[in-house]
Amino acid sequence: MEIIQLDLKFTYNDNEMVIHPTVIKDAKEVILIDCGYPHMLSILEEELRNKGVAPESISKVLITHHDDDHMGTLFELKKKYPTIQVIASDIEKDYISGEKKSLRLIQAEDMLNKLPETEKSFGLAFIDSLKKIKHVPVDIVVKGGDYFEWAGGCEILSTPGHTPGHISIYNKKLDVIITGDAAVIEDKALKVANPHFTLNPTDAEESLRKLINLNARKYYCYHGGFYLNKK
Ligand SMILES: [Zn+2]
Repeated sequence: MEIIQLDLKFTYNDNEMVIHPTVIKDAKEVILIDCGYPHMLSILEEELRNKGVAPESISKVLITHHDDDHMGTLFELKKKYPTIQVIASDIEKDYISGEKKSLRLIQAEDMLNKLPETEKSFGLAFIDSLKKIKHVPVDIVVKGGDYFEWAGGCEILSTPGHTPGHISIYNKKLDVIITGDAAVIEDKALKVANPHFTLNPTDAEESLRKLINLNARKYYCYHGGFYLNKK
């Protein structure tokens, strides 16, 4: 059993970027945690193979929250591999399935009028990209405290703030936390993700503290990569 962090590399406005979905793997299950922006399926498949994971072997995909960089490729993934089951929290599921309007889209539309003139085209492009996200129904609904046998045992952690139904995953046996966007690595430390995109800063701070207090050996962050806690 193992937990494998992926490096999905791409260019955005001439900048080299990387985001980090994670794979939880044991004899029974291969679970992908988050899956990248829209149209990243081939990059995802290539990186999975690079790390010794056959895309065909994925049994489940868990979406930590409904942002485009985490669920963007979900539709394409599910279309090509229809047996994959989608897991999300009870709060995020309606945004992932499209039953409720994306909170990020609502936020972006609210902010548009407050943006300086020079940033309006960026705001409009962002809104446009969020509107194009394709939705997928959620098969398995989870909440904080739920426990699964994956790779020696994984607990679902409720880590709201970035979005209200954000979840992280704690594998006690391997001493690993997969943070999603509840923690990012900045200046070699665990921090709250970009405050502009944090829907509830107080909750986000509390969630970060909760993750740090668990004092895991390794933190896999979607933005920033791998954090080793030298305890
Ligand atoms: Zn993100």
